[in-house]
Amino acid sequence: MAAAPALKHWRTTLERVEKFVSPLYFTDCNLRGRLFGASCPVAVLSSFLTPERLPYQEAVQRDFRPAQVGDSFGPTWWTCWFRVELTIPEAWVGQEVHLCWESDGEGLVWRDGEPVQGLTKEGEKTSYVLTDRLGERDPRSLTLYVEVACNGLLGAGKGSMIAAPDPEKMFQLSRAELAVFHRDVHMLLVDLELLLGIAKGLGKDNQRSFQALYTANQMVNVCDPAQPETFPVAQALASRFFGQHGGESQHTIHATGHCHIDTAWLWPFKETVRKCARSWVTALQLMERNPEFIFACSQAQQLEWVKSRYPGLYSRIQEFACRGQFVPVGGTWVEMDGNLPSGEAMVRQFLQGQNFFLQEFGKMCSEFWLPDTFGYSAQLPQIMHGCGIRRFLTQKLSWNLVNSFPHHTFFWEGLDGSRVLVHFPPGDSYGMQGSVEEVLKTVANNRDKGRANHSAFLFGFGDGGGGPTQTMLDRLKRLSNTDGLPRVQLSSPRQLFSALESDSEQLCTWVGELFLELHNGTYTTHAQIKKGNRECERILHDVELLSSLALARSAQFLYPAAQLQHLWRLLLLNQFHDVVTGSCIQMVAEEAMCHYEDIRSHGNTLLSAAAAALCAGEPGPEGLLIVNTLPWKRIEVMALPKPGGAHSLALVTVPSMGYAPVPPPTSLQPLLPQQPVFVVQETDGSVTLDNGIIRVKLDPTGRLTSLVLVASGREAIAEGAVGNQFVLFDDVPLYWDAWDVMDYHLETRKPVLGQAGTLAVGTEGGLRGSAWFLLQISPNSRLSQEVHWHEAHKFLKVEFPARVRSSQATYEIQFGHLQRPTHYNTSWDWARFEVWAHRWMDLSEHGFGLALLNDCKYGASVRGSILSLSLLRAPKAPDATADTGRHEFTYALMPHKAPSPAPATSWSAFSVSSPAVVLETVKQAESSPQRRSLVLRLYEAHGSHVDCWLHLSLPVQEAILCDLLERPDPAGHLTLRDNRLKLTFSPFQVLSLLLVLQPPPH
Ligand SMILES: [Zn+2]
Repeated sequence: MAAAPALKHWRTTLERVEKFVSPLYFTDCNLRGRLFGASCPVAVLSSFLTPERLPYQEAVQRDFRPAQVGDSFGPTWWTCWFRVELTIPEAWVGQEVHLCWESDGEGLVWRDGEPVQGLTKEGEKTSYVLTDRLGERDPRSLTLYVEVACNGLLGAGKGSMIAAPDPEKMFQLSRAELAVFHRDVHMLLVDLELLLGIAKGLGKDNQRSFQALYTANQMVNVCDPAQPETFPVAQALASRFFGQHGGESQHTIHATGHCHIDTAWLWPFKETVRKCARSWVTALQLMERNPEFIFACSQAQQLEWVKSRYPGLYSRIQEFACRGQFVPVGGTWVEMDGNLPSGEAMVRQFLQGQNFFLQEFGKMCSEFWLPDTFGYSAQLPQIMHGCGIRRFLTQKLSWNLVNSFPHHTFFWEGLDGSRVLVHFPPGDSYGMQGSVEEVLKTVANNRDKGRANHSAFLFGFGDGGGGPTQTMLDRLKRLSNTDGLPRVQLSSPRQLFSALESDSEQLCTWVGELFLELHNGTYTTHAQIKKGNRECERILHDVELLSSLALARSAQFLYPAAQLQHLWRLLLLNQFHDVVTGSCIQMVAEEAMCHYEDIRSHGNTLLSAAAAALCAGEPGPEGLLIVNTLPWKRIEVMALPKPGGAHSLALVTVPSMGYAPVPPPTSLQPLLPQQPVFVVQETDGSVTLDNGIIRVKLDPTGRLTSLVLVASGREAIAEGAVGNQFVLFDDVPLYWDAWDVMDYHLETRKPVLGQAGTLAVGTEGGLRGSAWFLLQISPNSRLSQEVHWHEAHKFLKVEFPARVRSSQATYEIQFGHLQRPTHYNTSWDWARFEVWAHRWMDLSEHGFGLALLNDCKYGASVRGSILSLSLLRAPKAPDATADTGRHEFTYALMPHKAPSPAPATSWSAFSVSSPAVVLETVKQAESSPQRRSLVLRLYEAHGSHVDCWLHLSLPVQEAILCDLLERPDPAGHLTLRDNRLKLTFSPFQVLSLLLVLQPPPH
């Protein structure tokens, strides 16, 4: 037995223990140096390179050439397959034997035709266990394959993580050998590192830290690395320390294995499929060795990929899901952005996700899971409720740049008053390693001390995949109940939230959006992706509506359910939080553009088919019917096709969700509005446009000097100011280029000044009048009805100073709207200098307001009386080409007084009696007898309590309220009277209706 310590020197004692476990110093004689014993090279190593991501069966047929340690392979995005033929020496019988593999890139070991484990240096996985204990009769010769992807966990950025990928990067194999592994040494190292962590973490004011330090010191005294027979005494010392339990009031940490895999980011979608396989097969292997290990996995899309590409692995995943170790969470198709997707698209994330989880794993998810996205819409609590979820986990608000969010466990109340329980893991990460430092931070950092005594702790490498390691598990298991530290248990998210729910009386409530005070550039970056998203949301809306109406009216029509599911899933995929946000590499942006093109072309084909079926037998005089897919009457000037490819203009009126014939061209009278448009260019070059409703004046450079509502004479533009003013800002963030626009960019505002004489009359009036102009933004970029944009780190916006004063501006969000301040009073106000909105924003005072509408933009702000729409950015990382090139987008300005009158009918399938209620979606029900049920989704948009009537012209047999997953409400049967249904809404409430159609006429 060692002598009692003679001295009390903290630093020498601590560093002595550190050197005993150091991988750098004294490895000739310390404990770390004994982790591995004897080693030998692999018998035969061979390899081949391919630019493709081949299936295993195909890869092993290829021509493998001799290879050796030290070889280089590449370049970026290629794959190197290694064949590893090995023979374990007979002398190693009774020992644990590993294949030690170190290479750049991400490896996957295949054994007997199935993937068995990931191998990545960055993810601390450099060892594959060949046998826990080599038996005398075990086969000692074996052939493995290692598939190495030529990219790191976080892609292949040139020089920095988020720089554009280096296409020429080469990779190297630096180690491939067999070695005896000393499990007892490993366990002692884990103990000593934990004791060091406790000593450092609790510090010199705490007696427990001294106990930890002296225990570790004593272990070094008794342990001779060269004599394994001395290890049990050291182990016993550690066990005694860790077995000293804490008290009843101890905080409990719920540790859940996790592995955040961005569905595409610094690598393409296709690599994500392999990242899933590498990460999850490793997690399954850990589950086999650690039956108490629980792993939470989100994103149905990724599981669907693995199902089709790795069926063997997938069936094992299902087995472990049955055992409760592999736990699907989130309920959504992908971890989508929390701001930009439309309300309907968010519903579909859950509809596709929850149905997938139910079908594949026998139950839906009970927790919504978005640990890494860039802010959370105020409508999410209601959408979660409608999809069977009352719990939400994220941690991203810990990234707030200005204000520290005041809670880690709290109730979140959405726009309509729906409440969900939210937990942010207080360690502010989803990639913990199981260290004492992280465990202590989880307790110390918790903003709800005394209110919530449970915390989540998500451990495992993440972002690019990787996941947990055995060492992390060994650490956490050792810390299960030790005095001085919180209790640590391996739990599922369900267990954590149940514990939080059971003791939630003291929790605070946060009302409204969870705004992330960072990454506000993601509302604008990659304008073409944003445009694709908005357009495709609209196309799928229209296809579903017209297909539903055709289904109701024609016995022959087949609702294109399977095609729609495919197109929706494609749209949902691109709403992933690094795709629609524009924070991805060029390769991903290009793939996203292909996906949108697919949706556009297939969607338009389906749209034509549905329109043809709907209108069959009801042609107008010219054989033309005009269809309105919006839930209100529209009176618009339209360009109608004439024979020979020409167009003529006509003023048309079409009722809500219905159609009307084209007015006959012979009778000119109905073609003209009551008041034709006048366009006049003055001698000074300015132009006035007047249609009897609004009168607009443009100065000779195209800026808006006046916008008047003719009936009231009310001017909308602020006195002495000009609207449609383009402004350019320097846009250099601190680091996250594609993501961030910083507050200081506002200090660099430069109006883009045009030249007089560039304004000209376009269309001269009558049914339509227009003017156009050309604006040189910089020597490289110009703007007219399109923008040619060739900038670096610049931000283009357009401003409209309004003759309106209000401390709040209104922004459209999913199924509703919300207000944000127009001033910078507090830090919470000015941190929202750049915000997001959907199709409109508005600044109103009593009796009058000015709305700014857009067809594909999301970034916006209102400061004082200036409405500003964010148009284009020019970040250079991770995509150096982002937004370079030609852009086309539309915005409109709408001064307004009061809502418009109720609609008249031509043929209208549906109309709603209240202007406050929007009928957003009409689609076939996911599952319905004979496929003859529709789902209608409506929401209250003004923020008011409303009783209204929904008028139906379709032959409806039965109407039942249902949730967002289309499950009928048992008490939700509605009475159909005179072809109408009475509906009652609370502010911003979303209602879904299941309509069972009568059989169609044959
Ligand atoms: Zn992410």
